[in-house]
Amino acid sequence: MEKKTHIDCEEYLAIDVFKGFCNVKKTTVMADEEGCDDFTQVKKCRFCKHYNETEEHLGTCMNEAVTYPDLLAKTCDSFNWLDR
Ligand SMILES: [Zn+2]
Repeated sequence: MEKKTHIDCEEYLAIDVFKGFCNVKKTTVMADEEGCDDFTQVKKCRFCKHYNETEEHLGTCMNEAVTYPDLLAKTCDSFNWLDR
């Protein structure tokens, strides 16, 4: 499994590209810093079975719609976690 970083956590609120607020720690953290123990992975296209990378930072959903690896998929009905 990938490294758990704050930026991929549900409890992370981005302030800017580099830092954000961690709702678990109640403090400002760096985006690429290792996540907390109660890390909850956020739903993003790149964690989904339907995501296919076509080039760097770009891919397709179900080989059809163009999407981005870091697109939030919280409201996607077809979201399916990759086997981890
Ligand atoms: Zn955290």
